[in-house]
Amino acid sequence: MPAARVEDVAACCHELGSCGLQHRDQGPDARLEAYFDAAVDLPVLLGGLQEGLRCAGLGHLSVDVSQVVEEDWEAGWRRHFGPVQVTPRLWVRPPWAALDPAPGRIAVTIEPRMAFGTGGHESTQLCLQALEKHLRPGASCLDLGTGSGVLAIAAALLGAGRVLALDVDAVAVASARDSVRLNGLEGGVVTVREGSLAQAGAEHFDLVLANIHSQVLRPLLGAIAARLRPAGVAVLSGLLAAEEAAFRGCMEAAALRPGETLERGGWICLAGTRGA
Ligand code: SAH
Repeated sequence: MPAARVEDVAACCHELGSCGLQHRDQGPDARLEAYFDAAVDLPVLLGGLQEGLRCAGLGHLSVDVSQVVEEDWEAGWRRHFGPVQVTPRLWVRPPWAALDPAPGRIAVTIEPRMAFGTGGHESTQLCLQALEKHLRPGASCLDLGTGSGVLAIAAALLGAGRVLALDVDAVAVASARDSVRLNGLEGGVVTVREGSLAQAGAEHFDLVLANIHSQVLRPLLGAIAARLRPAGVAVLSGLLAAEEAAFRGCMEAAALRPGETLERGGWICLAGTRGA
């Protein structure tokens, strides 16, 4: 499969109950190994997988099935997830990977088995980079489509005064709540709520982060702009570089003035400020 799609396919396998995933190859053509319990109903699983991939716009992927004797895949799988350095001071790490404390270093701890957002995906990394740049101490922040909670937690650790994390997916909401606890932030500035923008009540934000597929994001741009405080910034990702011009047009139409573009591995992140 295209390497850029690995995390989407992984999320799909995870939803179908995979007990472990291993990304084998590097380079543009990737292979993902997903482990399931031996008692799984294989035709149902394969049907669910193809349907999930189709819904995610990933089309048909070739799937090989084999039975493996239980081995220490957990150790191998854990080896795959190490700490990821996103910016000179910001890291995302799994709970078992120790990081030496360094002055000013901020590490977000995420359990990789959780919902989308382990820090490995370019669009997540771009959002973290933009978050670090745009977040002012004490700012109020909305993380729309929080997934594992990675952006919301990073915002809190970077000094936000208030963070609202929303996701329409109940599994993601549970994961984000677990992540908040894992990072020792329970009872703190982060609130996780199931739902979309309507669940933000009447709140307005200095910063809105939304790393969601562009087809989902486009119709939400006007509502996102309306949630920004004056001089607020929307950090938008989940977009491919090829979509940049069209997406900038959509932002302008939604009264969001597009600013700089960040790019990694074919993915982009656009920051927009509220127009007059
Ligand atoms: N913020 C994380 C996860 C992004 S994945 C990161 O940057 O890595 C996108 C998430 O958006 C998914 O968890 C999905 O359930 C959620 N989502 C999709 N449409 C949404 C909507 N309209 N409102 C809120 N969340 C949405």
